[in-house]
Amino acid sequence: MAVREIVVVPHPVLRAVAKPVKDFGLELQRLIDDMIETMRAAPGVGLAAPQVNVSKRVIVVEYEDPEAGIPHVLYAVVNPKIVRFSKETEWGVEGCLSVPGVIGEVERASEIVVRGYDRHGKPFNLRTDGWVARIFQHEIDHLNGVLFTDKAVNIQRVSPELAAEMDRV
Ligand SMILES: [Zn+2]
Repeated sequence: MAVREIVVVPHPVLRAVAKPVKDFGLELQRLIDDMIETMRAAPGVGLAAPQVNVSKRVIVVEYEDPEAGIPHVLYAVVNPKIVRFSKETEWGVEGCLSVPGVIGEVERASEIVVRGYDRHGKPFNLRTDGWVARIFQHEIDHLNGVLFTDKAVNIQRVSPELAAEMDRV
C-alpha cells in the first residue's frame, strides 16, 4: 500500500466524469488499498478516485462517532449509484481534501440507498443516513465532476489548522 498524492483544484481530473470500472483485478485492488491509506493519512473520512488522479468510479468511506452512537464503518464501493434519495434534507458544513482551506454549508438528502459493487465485484445495496449519507453524496459527486463548492452556501476561508480538525472528504 502507498499514500498517493491528493490533487487539488483546479486540476482538470476533478471536473471529469469518471469511467465505470469493468476489471476487478490487481490494479483495482491496489487502487482501493492506496485510497484507504491515503484517506487515513490525510486524514479524511472519504475519498474518491479522481482525488488521487484516477478517473474511475471508486470511492472509500470510513467514519465513526461513538458519542453519537455511530459505529465504525469502512466501505469501498465500485461504480456506486444513489438509487433513492429521501425527500427530507439536512444542512451540514463540509470541507474537501481537494479544495483546501474552504468550508461551506451544503443541503443533502437525509437518507439514501446506494447500489454498487464491493472490491471483488459482488453487487450490494446500502441504506444509510445522517453524516455517513452526506459523505457518500459528496464522494459520488466527485465521480461526476461536481465539487461541494458548486452547491454550498456561506462559503468561508478557514485556516489550514482549523480545516484539519474537520471531517474532510
Ligand atoms: Zn471532496
